[in-house]
Amino acid sequence: MAQPGRPPAASGHSSQNGAGEERYSNGPVENSLMYSSQMLDGQGFSSVVPGLYSHQIPTKVPLHPSSGQYNFGGSQNVSPLSNQGSGQTLNRPPVGPISMAPLQHASSVPQMLPPSQNSAAIPSSSNSFISGAHPPALSNWQYGQTPMNQPTGYQTNHFADVAGTVSTQPLSSSGSTNPATSYQYAVSPGGPPLQNSYMKPGSIPPPVNRPLASAFPPVRPPLGPPPAGGPPLVRPSATPIGPPNSSLPQPLLNSATNQEATKYQSPAPQNLKMGRNVGYSYPTLPPGYQNASSPGAPGMQSSPLQYPAGPQPFPQPSLGTNHITGSMGGLSLQPEGLRSINLLQERNILPTTSLQAPVPNLHEEIQKLNCNPELFRCTLTNIPQTQALLNKAKLPLGLLLHPFKDLSQLPVVTSSTIVRCRSCRTYINPFVSFLDQRRWKCNLCYRVNDVPEEFMYNPVTRVYGEPHKRPEVQNATIEFMAPSEYMLRPPQPPVYLFVFDVSHNAIETGYLNTVCKTLLDNLDLLPGNTRTKIGFITFDSTIHFYSLQEGLSQPQMLIVSDIEDVFIPMPENLLVNLNENKELIQDLLRTLPQMFTKSLETQSALGPALQAAFKLMSPTGGRISVFQTQLPSVGVGSLKSREEPNQKASAKDIHLTPSTDFYKKLALDCSGQQVAVDLFLLSGQYSDLASLGCISRYSAGSVYYYQSYHHQHNPVQVEKLQKELKRYLTRKIGFEAVMRIRCTKGLSIHTFHGNFFVRSTDLLSLPNVNPDAGYAVQMSVEESLTDMPVVSFQSALLYTSSKGERRIRVHTMCLPVVTTLSDVYLGADVQAITGLLANMAVDRSVSASLSDARDALVNAVIDSLSAYRSSVLSIQQPGLMAPYSLRLFPLHVLALLKQKAFQTGTNIRLDERIFTMCQVKNQPLIYLMLMTHPNLYRVDNLTDEGALNINDKTIPQPRILQLSVEKLSRDGAYLMDAGSVMFIWVGKNCGQNFISQVLGVPSHASIPQNMTHLPELETAESTRTIAFISWLREQRPFFPILYIIRDESPLKSSFLQNMIEDRTESALSYYEFLLHIQQQVNK
Ligand SMILES: [Zn+2]
Repeated sequence: MAQPGRPPAASGHSSQNGAGEERYSNGPVENSLMYSSQMLDGQGFSSVVPGLYSHQIPTKVPLHPSSGQYNFGGSQNVSPLSNQGSGQTLNRPPVGPISMAPLQHASSVPQMLPPSQNSAAIPSSSNSFISGAHPPALSNWQYGQTPMNQPTGYQTNHFADVAGTVSTQPLSSSGSTNPATSYQYAVSPGGPPLQNSYMKPGSIPPPVNRPLASAFPPVRPPLGPPPAGGPPLVRPSATPIGPPNSSLPQPLLNSATNQEATKYQSPAPQNLKMGRNVGYSYPTLPPGYQNASSPGAPGMQSSPLQYPAGPQPFPQPSLGTNHITGSMGGLSLQPEGLRSINLLQERNILPTTSLQAPVPNLHEEIQKLNCNPELFRCTLTNIPQTQALLNKAKLPLGLLLHPFKDLSQLPVVTSSTIVRCRSCRTYINPFVSFLDQRRWKCNLCYRVNDVPEEFMYNPVTRVYGEPHKRPEVQNATIEFMAPSEYMLRPPQPPVYLFVFDVSHNAIETGYLNTVCKTLLDNLDLLPGNTRTKIGFITFDSTIHFYSLQEGLSQPQMLIVSDIEDVFIPMPENLLVNLNENKELIQDLLRTLPQMFTKSLETQSALGPALQAAFKLMSPTGGRISVFQTQLPSVGVGSLKSREEPNQKASAKDIHLTPSTDFYKKLALDCSGQQVAVDLFLLSGQYSDLASLGCISRYSAGSVYYYQSYHHQHNPVQVEKLQKELKRYLTRKIGFEAVMRIRCTKGLSIHTFHGNFFVRSTDLLSLPNVNPDAGYAVQMSVEESLTDMPVVSFQSALLYTSSKGERRIRVHTMCLPVVTTLSDVYLGADVQAITGLLANMAVDRSVSASLSDARDALVNAVIDSLSAYRSSVLSIQQPGLMAPYSLRLFPLHVLALLKQKAFQTGTNIRLDERIFTMCQVKNQPLIYLMLMTHPNLYRVDNLTDEGALNINDKTIPQPRILQLSVEKLSRDGAYLMDAGSVMFIWVGKNCGQNFISQVLGVPSHASIPQNMTHLPELETAESTRTIAFISWLREQRPFFPILYIIRDESPLKSSFLQNMIEDRTESALSYYEFLLHIQQQVNK
């Protein structure tokens, strides 16, 4: 039945934000005026005729029960397991109106999406992940592969409106208070050579046009004034974008101002008349939605020029096209890499410092511009030319991404024209080639494009005629301020809704105190602006809303007891402006923990509460944070325990799949309305995370799990929750985001891993994007990459910042193509391979079985080493031979087999296993590796030798040791860093110095059983140890608990469990594993 005020539901997700499937068939459109109303963009956020808004903006959906409330997706397919929910109201004295009777209505939205479960990503017939040229399989993470049929137009590049402006700015200005990473996108002074000069010396003539001497100024301090000397960037006649004091340094947190302050508007080139992208006039935007930096400020129009008079001659004849040679001439630089290693003989293969990503074998001038491997990484840094070659190698080809990582500095470009390939919509990047000053060739589809007039001017050097030196062409990672054609609707305000379990069980854990206190402390640090909205829902067997209407003397609680048919009372006062209603909000946060202390209500109506939250958030989109402490027991989405007591993990049918599709369907509805749901599960009992987790997985949320949380019995968990919640609340957030990954023609991406919904074949829908999420994709070689010395990959993340700006973050990576198997092995990135295999193994565990996934992991090692032995090694040697690049492969895979997600034999709790699987899917590679193969250090003899010095602090850098008890001495103390948990094991004969100067206790025997903190002592040893541990902790977005243990400690088994190289009750030692592999390889 049709809903009033709602477009036909059949349009489903395709009606959201115009996820336009790119069409490549259209020819170039030279005159964009013809296309003024459909300047659609490949990213999906395209301009539409304003009149379409009524369909696109869900505020039109009536929310009041009397005016057409409707059921939200999926509930009709789920039979509630309990019918107790028909309106019990607690004896709680309500502060406000109580129990509004909902109106009955029969309508429900037809299913918006085909409910099909796509087949598993991995063919489960074979016990290997890499079984040859399997056709691109759809991931079971994909859902509703409806191709989008929106008209696609072109964003012409021919507007000469305003020259781009560029700024380098700290990302924390978007509201994050996170520690910045140390990676800097430094633009080297003196100007790098043209990107067209990327040939190996000697192989291709050097470029004629060396960079101009004046080229790039050194990197500007992030918030400083414009560089001295030279003409000012802000011309007197121009309208400054920022506030009057915009050139003054500003504190980092003053983000709204800072973002503007660091943008410098540069003079416009001529031809201003045609300016104005006609397609994106938004005449009716309310002021709050107006783009702060509207392109083409009027003051700029009359500018004659700052750059040298007239276009400079471009004395650069042909620079060639594919000037990047992928020849393996550089191999001699990597003699180590060519080695074969007999793993059975060489036991000391673990590097003593953190393993670095391999450096692609590109000319250093290109490699210098390449993307940071922390952001974008490929399993094979030498791309096989054909699928046949890839099949031979028996290694998975795929990418690992951390696209929204916090960066200390990032070039941000404001320009009315974002230069993209007309054919494939690739953003111009350092790996395109310039045929001449006016034409550039796309490095993904090879189409030759025109250089728009505006792009001729370089805002960094303020020189005309240097398109190749624009920041877009000098930085593999860059962010664009998106003009309004990248918006389907005005950017949404930041909206945060908190949903708290307040059942008896929840109150018992004491979590609400911690959460409300942390929220109260960080309320002013929530990323946002004057439009930020906030709201609260609590629930047990009923749902409680809180009116925070202006003028109230205290918050009003509204109880809805009909959980079978949830409605929103007073929708307009439940999500309120944070700034304008701060006192009421603070008042609520202070009183909330006490309000339910007498509650005896044990039931949990999580499903209905989530439905209510969804309804409340639908008009705007935003973030829902759910805190849950038990199995939902009433209403839709209620669940039954599936965990068998003492269930052995080897049991065939452990419950890794959801028991209901309610959460998945609701998540997809959320995704459609730009709502993401983050789940905080704090539970001592089984809560069926396999089912609950779907709510976050498909809505691009995050899952946090605090096993056995209790404020008194488990105090370290309280600290962990506090720290992680603070990070969660204050970290950067992007709203209504989509991400697309493109790659050079011939390659194809087929399976995505992470938390999102795949909207069209390659468009990931991310209602929220956070800086701590990682993604992985699998790829295949569809067409031979003949004559392509290099290939490129580009991810583009379009999002709305918490300041309401539409931004696009682009990463581009370039890799060489190779034709021989030995070269493929040479470039193997063993960490990336392990990470991708782990993702694939999670899928396999769910679609087939855990033992199937484990077999496939082992077979990945056997198959690749067999292929290496039979096809690369010319002389058959005894032992187990591996290429140097893969020397850690068996160890990493063994570590995966012993990891909580995939281990057998022990009584790991089901929810814990599922949570670990969620982490495998959602964590950036670096943390996944740490979780899988922890780092072990000796810490009782830390010295300053080789130490880092950061902010006047000396950070010792002890060597990393192999994970074997052989490496432990009873005389020492060792720190094991397993990512989210750390152990310090203190040997029985550990020197008195460490025990008294670091642990602060008189003797080994007096180390407390449950010691979880190092005292801060006034000793050099204490300072060093604490500095090292703090440094490790600060680098990650979660808070590892530290346990200090000695031999008698019950936690010792957890410590030993992580000794990957040793034998455990149910798993082979590393040496035994190698023997097993050898046996299979030599068959
Ligand atoms: Zn292209």
